[in-house]
Amino acid sequence: MIDVESIRRDFPILGREVYGKPLVYLDNAATTQKPQCVIDSISDAYRNVNANVHRGIHFLSQEATDLMEAAREKVRQFINAGSTQEVVFTRGTTESINLLASSFAAAFLKEGDEVIISGMEHHSNIVPWQIQASRYGFVLKIIPVTDRGELDMEALGALLSAKTKLISITHVSNVLGTVNDISGIIAMAHSHGIPVAVDGAQSVPHIKVDVQALGADFYAFSGHKIYGPTGIGVLYGRRELLEKMPPYQGGGEMIRKVTFDGTTYNELPYKFEAGTPDYIGSIALAKALDYVDAIGMDAIADYEKSLCGYALERLESIPGMRIIGRSAHRSGVISFLVGNIHPSDMGTLLDRLGIAVRTGHHCAEPLMDRLGIPGTVRASFSFYNTRAEIETLAAGIERVSKMF
Ligand code: PMP
Repeated sequence: MIDVESIRRDFPILGREVYGKPLVYLDNAATTQKPQCVIDSISDAYRNVNANVHRGIHFLSQEATDLMEAAREKVRQFINAGSTQEVVFTRGTTESINLLASSFAAAFLKEGDEVIISGMEHHSNIVPWQIQASRYGFVLKIIPVTDRGELDMEALGALLSAKTKLISITHVSNVLGTVNDISGIIAMAHSHGIPVAVDGAQSVPHIKVDVQALGADFYAFSGHKIYGPTGIGVLYGRRELLEKMPPYQGGGEMIRKVTFDGTTYNELPYKFEAGTPDYIGSIALAKALDYVDAIGMDAIADYEKSLCGYALERLESIPGMRIIGRSAHRSGVISFLVGNIHPSDMGTLLDRLGIAVRTGHHCAEPLMDRLGIPGTVRASFSFYNTRAEIETLAAGIERVSKMF
């Protein structure tokens, strides 16, 4: 059971007012707010243990290194990776997928090969593949999205062939809220010997993710969307594949031996972590994962499911309401349009009522084109949101609708 009032007290920003109104923060898919313990862990780390990691023999450097490696172990446990060598720290989902696309393509892709993504991907799981496709000459194939906002699994079956070298797909859509059948997709792909990479930016904060149980070959997520700081994220990759992939960036820490005749690379995961890492960010991310673990991912998923169901029902009662994305398997996000009101007008007027939602294409322009809409209004939820906030949102939408 979630004690939402007590949880809200852990997040100082939730007590803020905007335009003289209590903040109703419903933009959690863009970024989540931070509990005091995460905020404190950043200043504590700078105050007490700051020193560059891995390189120093002095006390503070070793302490900072130990904390960063403990954070890696925390991430390993959180997603149930087999080894900390499979947990690469990055700047976030975007960098994780860029690293993956760059290094996977260099190791495994050539002209005529195919990589499958879907029609509901965030730009960060489209553009890195396009960049590498133009370099290596492989072809991107797209799983179509149905009118309900689900992946067309039959079409996926038809896309698979001997040319397919990877499927890279989002776990949860940041626009439609659809939870894709990742296990089913992985089973289908693996039966053809094809690895699967998962964009977990919108899943890890909301549902328990076990990369080994899923069978994911790669899994990417961002710290800031799971109550951690900005600038830190994770790429999980199966060791066997990461071993075969060349480094993404060169520099300090990713090397074993450098000479002008050639360089050998460090072991995993350091091979992929060139330069001074955001060790403070890792430490604070681990604190955020401790925080959500203390609440419990199952309790979080249950609470958010019930909140989201309530919100769907309440919003559907509003005249002219059109919910974008009707999958029965959903999480965290509700996109909508009301009558002919432009999403940015709706968003701006809700903002004046203290309600923070996101409007626009949500970095998923191909999906907007598929749906034939310029954008949506998106409300996205966390375990710190309340039914009263849903009521405020619904009343706000009704008020804005009457103005048009
Ligand atoms: N994928 C999805 C599904 C997302 O929602 C986002 C963030 N909006 C990203 C990737 C990119 O995450 P980040 O900006 O933290 O790198």
